[in-house]
Order: sequence, then structure tokens, then C-alpha cells
Amino acid sequence: NLSGKTAIVTGSNSGIGLGVAIELAKQGANIVLNSFTDRAEDHALAERIGAEHGVRARYIKADMSVGEDCRALVHAAGGCDILVNNAGIQHVAPVDEFPVEKWNAILAINLSSAFHTTAAALPGMRERGWGRIVNIASAHGLTASPFKSAYIAAKHGVVGLTKTVALETAGQGITCNAICPGYVLTPLIESQIPDQMKVHNMDRETVIREVMLLRQPSRQFATVEEIGGTTAFLCSAAAAQITGTTISVDGGWTAL
Ligand code: NAD
Repeated sequence: NLSGKTAIVTGSNSGIGLGVAIELAKQGANIVLNSFTDRAEDHALAERIGAEHGVRARYIKADMSVGEDCRALVHAAGGCDILVNNAGIQHVAPVDEFPVEKWNAILAINLSSAFHTTAAALPGMRERGWGRIVNIASAHGLTASPFKSAYIAAKHGVVGLTKTVALETAGQGITCNAICPGYVLTPLIESQIPDQMKVHNMDRETVIREVMLLRQPSRQFATVEEIGGTTAFLCSAAAAQITGTTISVDGGWTAL
């Protein structure tokens, strides 16, 4: 049970981040949602989660591509007991044609943001003698595919940062781990299914099995609830000695 703990989840107004935030709220944690927008619906989402699960939930706007914003998010939240570094973007292009601004944005949002939020969150965790840092990496933090150089470099970097932070916090009641999802069925992925069906002239089930999940041996998507559940496990007492490691939630992808 995480009641009384405060969890910041970066990039959490949709997809995996939102799923993780809802799961932590179910466990009783107070929630800080985040993205770079500041819309009424962002704040309404936090209000709804708070009301549904009987916890305090707030939305704080901060752009994870900007280091000072990342640190300001943690300070505006008044520190946190649980930090989930989830914000991330993707761009696909051959390395010799990769747009420099996309490279820089992906490294900033997918990797450097976790450095900044972790640096800002650690002093408070040390004071309280308890902390959980969960970095949402990827199967692409452990293995590669062509045309995703920035994403894969950043996610491998997240795994390296995870191990280093674990060593620097070992024995202090703080753990730092990375979750490495394979394909997760998020609204973004869901929205690609109709196009893929058209391009390949296949029905939904076939395009999922034969095209989208070709590298995922289970041929099943992971769900945001499963990533949330894995995060909650890493925050539980049973996981107190799990630190500096990765947990794959990838239907066997990295076992291949
Ligand atoms: P998504 O696009 O639904 O969510 C990304 C979140 O990050 C959104 O809430 C978005 O608003 C936020 N975000 C983007 N840029 C931001 C910025 N500059 N500042 C603050 N927030 C920002 O995608 P998702 O699939 O839920 O991805 C979440 C994380 O999971 C990412 O790090 C992604 O790399 C990782 N991941 C996803 C999959 C998958 O199959 N969906 C697989 C492995 C890893």
C-alpha cells in the first residue's frame, strides 16, 4: 500500500504514463500528472483520478525537453517518494538522414529529463530514507532495430543511468530500476492499426500478428495496466532489494 506517498509520473496525460498513474493511485499514492500542455482537460484528468481513487491528484505542466522545467516539476510537487520517468517521443529515419533537431529532442525528452528529475528528487528521498525511481525504458534499451538511432541511444542511456543511480543510492532505502516494455497497446499504437490494415490489406488480427507484433513472440500487446502493475510491484516491499536492473515486459522479444 502506497498511501501517504507522492508519485510524479512524467508524460502522463495519455498512454503508459496515465496507466501507471492510475495503478499507483489504486495503491493509494497521491499523484502528480505531467505533460507539456496546460489544457482544462489535463487538470480534469487529475481531478477524476483523485476522485475515483480517493487520493490527492494534481496536474503540473512542465516541458521535459527543458532541463530547468524537469527540475521545476519536482520542486513544484514539493518533492516525491516515487518518480516515474516516462515521457518519451520517437522519430524514425536512417542515421545519416536523421534530423538534428529530432535527435536533440529525443535525447532531451527520453534521456536527459530523467537525469534532471532524478537529481531534483534524490535529496528529499534521502531525507525521508525511502524512494522509488522507475524509468520507463524499452526493449530498445536492450536491443536495436534500424532507423531508430536516437530512440535506441537514449533508451540504452536510460538503462545506464538506472544502474548508476542504483549504485549511488544503494543501502539508502531508495531503489532505481528500468521497465523495458515491448509493444504496448496505447492510443497512439491503436490509431496506427487502421492504416496498417489498409497498407497490408489485412484484417485487424492478422496485421497485429503478422506485421506489428512480428518481433514479439507472444504476438500479444502488453497493456498499460501491466506496465502500471510492474511499476507498483517495484514500489512494493517485496522489491526492496531489486535495484539497478531492468524488467522486460515484452512477450519474449529480448529472449529471441
Ligand atoms: P504516448 O505518446 O501515449 O505518451 C507519451 C507521453 O509523454 C504523453 O503523455 C506526452 O504528452 C508526453 N510528452 C511528450 N513530450 C513531452 C514533453 N516534451 N514534456 C512532457 N511530456 C511529454 O506514448 P507511450 O507509448 O505511452 O510512451 C510512454 C513511454 O513508454 C515512452 O518513454 C516510450 O518510449 C515508452 N515505450 C512505449 C512503448 C509502446 O509500445 N507504446 C514501448 C516501449 C516503451
